[in-house]
Amino acid sequence: MNIAKNIEQIKSEVPSNVTLVAVSKTKPNKDLMEAYQAGQRIFGENKIQEMTDKWEALPKDIEWHMVGHVQTNKVKYMAPYVSMVHAVHKMKLLKEINKRAKQENRVIDCLLQMKIAEEDSKYGMTKEEIIDFLKDERLANFQHIKIRGLMGMATFTDDQDQLKREFSQLQNLYAELKHNYNFDVLSMGMTGDYQLAVEHDSTMIRIGSKIFGARD
Ligand SMILES: *Cc1c(COP(=O)(O)O)cnc(C)c1O
Repeated sequence: MNIAKNIEQIKSEVPSNVTLVAVSKTKPNKDLMEAYQAGQRIFGENKIQEMTDKWEALPKDIEWHMVGHVQTNKVKYMAPYVSMVHAVHKMKLLKEINKRAKQENRVIDCLLQMKIAEEDSKYGMTKEEIIDFLKDERLANFQHIKIRGLMGMATFTDDQDQLKREFSQLQNLYAELKHNYNFDVLSMGMTGDYQLAVEHDSTMIRIGSKIFGARD
């Protein structure tokens, strides 16, 4: 596995305004360092404990993105350093992120997760729930979070028509909300579907296996 080469390859395939999050979950620090030496500074993890161990061990100019489902009672462990939380799906979680970020005197970037997968095992809000969420008056009190945009995970499938349908939902909602809410991040696309995601206006792709190899 040539990690540097894989990163270079992905970057050559997407427009330069698309941000690459290297999803390093389950991978050892030496693999992350290989990516780091190739210039990669944004890493994504899906478990708070693992991300915190890596944050402690690795260079401090890395930006850590939590891409997985977050339990409210664990937010405190990542609040000192996490730069973006991708999968906010309820007000209680956002409230806790705000509270912990305040204690750390920080502002944490957040994305709202939309459920786009037709299979129902994935978390996230419907379009209507996201629209209502953004109108909630409590948001005005949250000075220590910034909602930068939306995130979604498509079904794990080769069916291009299904993927297009799922990405279109997110693309359309993002377009509808972007100007009113000053959004600048649409996080969608993984190893199997990032080209299609970019065609649907993704600005942030989250790639694991294509960089680091298959996970066990
Ligand atoms: C694991 C994971 C990824 C990366 O998946 P790959 O298919 O290995 O690129 C992206 N997003 C989330 C939320 C993940 O959990």
